[in-house]
Amino acid sequence: MAGEPEADCLFCKIVAGEVPATVVRETATTVAFQDINPQAPCHVLIIPKAHHRDAAALVAADPALAADVLREAGHVAADQKVDGSGYRVVFNTGTGAGQTVFHAHAHVLGGRGLEWPPG
Ligand code: 5GP
Repeated sequence: MAGEPEADCLFCKIVAGEVPATVVRETATTVAFQDINPQAPCHVLIIPKAHHRDAAALVAADPALAADVLREAGHVAADQKVDGSGYRVVFNTGTGAGQTVFHAHAHVLGGRGLEWPPG
């Protein structure tokens, strides 16, 4: 059921503390942690604690929770001191866009120049 933990979901396991992660922020509804394979000096993932497979499913099921994730992106950028120089918030949605973990997550990237369009 939407929002319920999924047994084989890596990010649900991080929420449950079953897989270690370097957590940088946590709220009642979200967790933010360092990406294990950072693509920029700041590369933090923000996830809703509730399981939704991608950003589209998240906002359809729970728009307030999607807003929580986006709000946290700004807090992460400020905490990581990349808000002044600029940062990017990315939701890869679907395999064709590079999504590899099917638990909705925002990437917060910053601390270096970011090209456009992305690859
Ligand atoms: P996606 O490709 O789905 O948009 O992003 C998934 C992200 O999760 C990737 O950037 C990848 O490096 C990160 N990731 C994969 N496995 C782990 C893990 O076990 N721990 C952490 N912290 N990040 C992970």
